[in-house]
Amino acid sequence: MPSRKFADGEVVRGRWPGSSLYYEVEILSHDSNSQLYNVKYKDGTELELKESDIKKPFGNSINRYNGEPELIERNDMPHKHTQEKFHLSQESSYIPTQYSLRGRREEIKLKEVESKEEIVVTKRPALLRTSEVTATQSKDLEFGGVPGVFLIMLGLPAFLFLLLLMCKQKEPSLLNFPPPLPALGDLWETRVFGAYLLWFLLQALFHLLPIGKVVEGTPLTDGRRLKYRLNGFYAFILTSALVGACFFWNVELYYVYRHFLQFAFAAVVFATGLSVYLYARALKAPQDELSPASSGNAIYDFFIGRELNPRIGTFDLKYFCELRPGLIGWVVINLVMLLAEMKEQNRALPSLAMILVNSFQLLYVVDALWNEEALLTTMDIIHDGFGFMLAFGDLVWVPFIYSFQAFYLVSHPNELSWPMASLIIALKLCGFVIFRCANSQKNAFRKNPADPRLAHLKTIHTSTGKNLLVSGWWGFVRHPNYLGDLIMALAWSLPCGFNHILPYFYVVYFTILLVHREARDEQHCRKKYGLAWEKYCQRVPYRIVPYIY
Ligand code: NDP
Repeated sequence: MPSRKFADGEVVRGRWPGSSLYYEVEILSHDSNSQLYNVKYKDGTELELKESDIKKPFGNSINRYNGEPELIERNDMPHKHTQEKFHLSQESSYIPTQYSLRGRREEIKLKEVESKEEIVVTKRPALLRTSEVTATQSKDLEFGGVPGVFLIMLGLPAFLFLLLLMCKQKEPSLLNFPPPLPALGDLWETRVFGAYLLWFLLQALFHLLPIGKVVEGTPLTDGRRLKYRLNGFYAFILTSALVGACFFWNVELYYVYRHFLQFAFAAVVFATGLSVYLYARALKAPQDELSPASSGNAIYDFFIGRELNPRIGTFDLKYFCELRPGLIGWVVINLVMLLAEMKEQNRALPSLAMILVNSFQLLYVVDALWNEEALLTTMDIIHDGFGFMLAFGDLVWVPFIYSFQAFYLVSHPNELSWPMASLIIALKLCGFVIFRCANSQKNAFRKNPADPRLAHLKTIHTSTGKNLLVSGWWGFVRHPNYLGDLIMALAWSLPCGFNHILPYFYVVYFTILLVHREARDEQHCRKKYGLAWEKYCQRVPYRIVPYIY
């Protein structure tokens, strides 16, 4: 009879299927026929593992397992499945009854990772996300790796100016030869850079004001939770008052339109300088403060961000840049375009198309600021570091590309009929309802899984202690919030009419961004939740658009 290495009741480390992560498990029994061990994880999940997926605890100390989790997440809800055995065979036709890690496609990849480093999660299952820091150091790099991010960093600024220049042309056809990029000397203007700097500092000042509640972010690797002050909405009100004051004192906001390219260039210079500073300071950052996305490669880390939460005292640079200078700046730029349209086209009132674009995007920004707390659980805050990608995205791309429809309408008027406008408004509202309800449902669930308003929703238990929603909006498609966002993107472009494809650039770009983002999130969730994620994907097969994608 073949011998067995581990005894019943022994506390060992068992690999979580589909990952290189090891958890503390108790051996329950051993099947001498299949040579599989029946093991129990700390959250009560029972699985069958091969001997090769089980390891002795560090230091060979054998502890008795008392069945109590060492850490229960604050908002964790006792789940009815907790003591149930995990019957994989009933859930899936392709997951074998006796789950074995062998034969999986990732096995070779996992072996490579495992040989370099092995992770033992014995203390805090809920902190798995940040524990991935070291595991992912040897992972596949995203965005096409080093060559990919290098090209993105060079190409994006050039592309931005190309788009803005094309938009200024009388006939902005894609078939036209692209306009030449201006010389750097023509793009630089010290006064404009000064104005941009002033804007940034002013927003920083608003953020530092002791107004708005302070909340805690998600736990870091060491269990700490950083504190964040939520005062984005107040910053928006103060900015609105300031813009009102500009009207009152006849400050010429049209100046921003006349120097739009110079402002965009000032933002590019500033974002690049900021990225250099962020990378330099991250070189001294302790290992446990690095982003799970960082790789150790200088170029890649400069792009993706090396440090997860760079702070100067309590001032969180990433959190601040995500919603303030760029997002509020976007609304101000839209307003500038509205004024510029009236001036350029000698109108007494802005066009209906311009009013729609301004109102739709204002709603989007105000909604993001009102629900500021939701930012704390996004990939940007939890996973990505603060480097060129987010600095450029937040400070350049959002204000200068997201305002593209308004910029387009200044030189390409489109007279909208009321029936058409009504259809577009209906589309925008439909997208907004999906977007807001989906985001609110998930945020409420993550905040308090026992929320009685969510009691009707079905969930899947995961070994990290968190559950996944499988009904309601999150049972419709796996990213209903992206679907709503895409519908809104279309509604922003439609007021520009159908004469040119340029105003639809945003829809095309945003579709690519969200499809790529969904794939990244999917990969993270698969690692984080293992089999539970696979079950979720079976229950909810479509990613963003039902029956299509
Ligand atoms: P999501 O808000 O979609 O969050 C994804 C996370 O939600 C997952 O990692 C997982 O994290 C959790 N989750 C996934 N499925 C479930 C489920 N079934 N039940 C419970 N939790 C689940 O991701 P983003 O940060 O990408 O997007 C946030 C919003 O920002 C979206 O509305 C998006 O459209 C918008 N956005 C807008 C951009 C723009 O430029 N305008 C750019 C990017 C995003 P966990 O389980 O750890 O909680």
